Parts: sequence; structure tokens; C-alpha cells
Amino acid sequence: MKRVLVFDLDDTLYPEISFVKSGFKAVAEFLEKEYDLPLKESIAFMLKELENGRGDIFDKLLKVKNVYSASLVKKCLSVYRLHKPEIKLDPETLKCFQRFTDYPKYIITDGNKIVQHNKLVALGLYSMVKRCFITHRHGVNKAKPSPYCMHKICELEKIEPSQAVYIGDNPKKDFVNLKPIGFKTIRILQGMYKNEPADQKYNADWSVNSLKEINESLLNTIFGIN
Ligand SMILES: [Mg+2]
Repeated sequence: MKRVLVFDLDDTLYPEISFVKSGFKAVAEFLEKEYDLPLKESIAFMLKELENGRGDIFDKLLKVKNVYSASLVKKCLSVYRLHKPEIKLDPETLKCFQRFTDYPKYIITDGNKIVQHNKLVALGLYSMVKRCFITHRHGVNKAKPSPYCMHKICELEKIEPSQAVYIGDNPKKDFVNLKPIGFKTIRILQGMYKNEPADQKYNADWSVNSLKEINESLLNTIFGIN
């Protein structure tokens, strides 16, 4: 029986925090060049603020440095979003892909179309999987928890939902609408949702600590093959 692996991107295949840090560096470089703000100070400030959440870090930085304007915040956001990210795949990702060389593999990711595309390019993922779905390219309402892109993959592979597994980290949206349709689900306990409690409806059928634990034997169990 054909089986298809579908992966989330952020905090599943690479640590998203590395993208955030790479973006902060790009913004700090821009502010140093244009406003003479010392690079290291800006980076240290943003990283400290990150501990309180991702909300309005650029606003706060520009205010502290006395260069605040709404348009400069916008510019910083654009530098952050458009920068060429310095990010790397989790080493376990490559090993996992190698273990499943013969399986059709896909990625489904939400988020800004350009940002997500730049991440996929930087990580070299376009050549490692059959297709990457950036949900927003198909319409805002096709973002997770919509199962739209999973159904697309079923059409492409001519399979039933029960032959595909979705591997993701976010119990708020990654699995809830897939399970009732019959898709298999694996939650990877990484990133910001690592310790997020989730009830049965939202949680995946299976949980693992890293991609390392996803092997042929686990998939046989999940797909009910002995
Ligand atoms: Mg994720």
C-alpha cells in the first residue's frame, strides 16, 4: 500500500527561532547602515524583548533609540520579511528524509507567501520533496486547519486520506480537521508548542520528541500494517 508523508515546516523541519534571529540580524544591519544604531545593541534588545512575546518588538526598539515612526516600523517589518534567511535544516530532518527515500514526501506550511518561500529556498527543501504547498497561495481560507492541501495531495497521489500522515508541531491547528477525515497525524514535541496541552480533538494520534523517532516500524503501527 502506498503511503505518503506530509510535513509542516516551522518547528518541524527546522527551529523557527533561527529564522527569527536571522531576521533580527537583518533589521539590525539595516538600522546600523541607515541610522548608525550599533548592531549588537539592537540585536541584544530584540532578543531580550522576544522573551516577552513577538508583538511589537520593532516599535519598542525604535522608541528606545529615538528614531520611531510608523513608516520605519513598516520598513523594519519589510526588511525582516524579505531578508535572505540564514537557517539550516535540523540534522534529523535529512536523516528522516533518507530513511524514507522511497516515500512521496510533501510540505504544507502557512504564513506569508514570500517569507515561507524564502525559507524553503534557504533550506533547500524544494528539491527534497515532491511539492511544497504554501497554503496562502491557494487562498487565505486554505490555511490550516483547512484540510484543502491534504486533499490536493490525495488527488495528486491518487490515495485515500488513510494513506497519508501529517507531521506537525502545532496542536492548535495542525491536526484537528485532519483526524475526522481519516488522515494519520503525528505531533512533534518541538518549538513553542512543545509543552502546550491539547485535548483529544486537537492533539495528534501519535506524539514523538523528534523526527528521529519516526521510522518504518512506527509508520507500520500507525498505518496498521504488521
Ligand atoms: Mg509548525
